[in-house]
Amino acid sequence: MVSGERVLIVEDDPSAGAGLTLSLTEHGYDVVLVTTGREALTAAEGRPPEIVLLDLGLPDLDGVHVCRVLREKLPFVPIVMVTARDADIDVVVGLDAGANDYVVKPFTTAVLLARLRAHLRRPPATDADSEVMTVGELHIDTASHRAFLAGDEIELRPKEYALLHLLVTEVGRVVTRDRLLNDLWDLRWESSTKTLDMHVHALRRKLGDRPNGSAWISTVRSIGYRFESP
Ligand code: CA
Repeated sequence: MVSGERVLIVEDDPSAGAGLTLSLTEHGYDVVLVTTGREALTAAEGRPPEIVLLDLGLPDLDGVHVCRVLREKLPFVPIVMVTARDADIDVVVGLDAGANDYVVKPFTTAVLLARLRAHLRRPPATDADSEVMTVGELHIDTASHRAFLAGDEIELRPKEYALLHLLVTEVGRVVTRDRLLNDLWDLRWESSTKTLDMHVHALRRKLGDRPNGSAWISTVRSIGYRFESP
């Protein structure tokens, strides 16, 4: 069901960290586990996660501080904080620091998975729109949310797939930045053009050039992007 969304887990307790890593990996998530606040901040600087699970009780830095800095570094990434007990004050302070949600230890895997799913808000697949879309060498299977280039699958993250799908739906026409942002990003995360540009960049990198050397996706200055017809 889940196609490898990248979860950054910040948890200093070794058994809790191992347990979370195991259960989320079993459910198809791509887990990065770190055990200190400093490591969490470093991890946020590389390939960014799609969601963060942040234990507030960390050995080196104050978890609330870590939350605040992560929120600045990753303005659009949901942060679910983990508190050791039902400490209302932690929850209030954590949410003020930019966390989107919280779970209270001990929590079940089912509860955690439900929270992750809610925040990742994967686009639903319906039978109605299930078909194969083709642009030259590119094939998109809208039922399984997979894309293939000359028969080879392109590994896409959910947002990259959604972006590709929307652009291809309007192949040959400009899709405005406003529409892309509105359709693909939850406004609660205050979508920004930077996020959009990052996703277009990633998609271009994964698609590469066409056999004739031209680009799949053209930038239409200050308006949007166009997926070029073959
Ligand atoms: Ca802890």
